[in-house]
Amino acid sequence: MQIHKNHPLKDYNTFGVEAKADFFVDVKSISDLKNILSDSKFKSLPKLLLGGGSNILLCSDFKGLAIHIDLRGIVDLGNGLISVQAGENWHDFVMWSLDQDFNGIENLSLIPGNVGAAPMQNIGAYGVELKEVFVELEAYHIASGDIHIFSKEACYFGYRESIFKNTHQGKYIIVSVTLQLQTNGAVNYSYGAISDVLSQKGIENPTPKQVSEAIISIRQSKLPDPNEIGNSGSFFKNPVISNSDFERIKKQSADVPFYPSSDGQVKIPAAWLIEKAGWKGKRVGNYGVHEKQALVLVNYGGAKGEDIYKLAQEIQSSVKEKFGVYLQMEVNIIH
Ligand SMILES: Cc1cc2nc3c(=O)[nH]c(=O)nc-3n(C[C@H](O)[C@H](O)[C@H](O)COP(=O)(O)OP(=O)(O)OC[C@H]3O[C@@H](n4cnc5c(N)ncnc54)[C@H](O)[C@@H]3O)c2cc1C
Repeated sequence: MQIHKNHPLKDYNTFGVEAKADFFVDVKSISDLKNILSDSKFKSLPKLLLGGGSNILLCSDFKGLAIHIDLRGIVDLGNGLISVQAGENWHDFVMWSLDQDFNGIENLSLIPGNVGAAPMQNIGAYGVELKEVFVELEAYHIASGDIHIFSKEACYFGYRESIFKNTHQGKYIIVSVTLQLQTNGAVNYSYGAISDVLSQKGIENPTPKQVSEAIISIRQSKLPDPNEIGNSGSFFKNPVISNSDFERIKKQSADVPFYPSSDGQVKIPAAWLIEKAGWKGKRVGNYGVHEKQALVLVNYGGAKGEDIYKLAQEIQSSVKEKFGVYLQMEVNIIH
């Protein structure tokens, strides 16, 4: 296991921001993890855990130890129960599952990043969230060096939330995830444009692979590819607001889109709020708000993370001022 000093992180964040870590290590086994974390030289340093880097914004050089979680392996435990190591690429795993004739995660096709980070924010897309197939995960407890098992209930999954983003933030490293997939399970293609794309192809009773292909083509047409233009996907969460706040906004703009949420609350698209506040397509030098997707902030090349963060804060203030709604950042901000 090699420890690199002053290591560039540009290739480890999909925003493509230039930043360095004082120390960097690529971890391929639990014993690597134990060795590095018990080393007195690194024990007291701040740690930055890295998967695919598709949900982080590096605002400055990292003064500590960056750990790239590169644990690999997929184990089929039988009857659709699959254990996956944290360093496996999420989309490759979805493709693997479809090749084995499993279904359940086809709607989560083409989400960038690795399996270990998927429970962090309970990844979701096209009407499906990770929690629906999640059984348990194994996590390395940084303080004790023990492996703890977290059931679904213990993860406290919510909309782009889990305990690992809240009370357990920075305390654990997820090393493997176990999911329950189906054979011949129902496919869900009612969400968004999936059924339109399928019917254009003349498909009436889609297979999981066909649903996956439809979602891949929709995502490719809607979202900027981080390999071409730096971004971290949706920068903000869709706010869930009270019914009275919703009625107030509706009086202001009758065309406000909305989805009923739990407890009589209402979810409204952050992209709509950002667009209405005048930010869509706004470019400030080498960074800005994507021209087709107002929820995505982009680095056109050479932008500083700190500047992108300031832009995000300006968007937050302007939406708050115009609509009285606070937009919470979905991307993990690393200072
Ligand atoms: C174009 C694009 C589209 C996207 N679409 C979606 C979408 O549809 N739905 C969705 O939910 N997300 C989406 N995302 C966000 C992102 O892909 C997911 O959040 C993904 O799970 C992040 O994985 P990662 O490995 O890249 O995490 P990273 O960015 O590397 O890390 C994210 C956070 O988790 C921590 N972390 C990473 N690995 C571990 C680990 N093993 N143990 C503990 N902590 C860890 C990091 O320190 C960081 O705080 C999109 C991103 C992009 C760029």
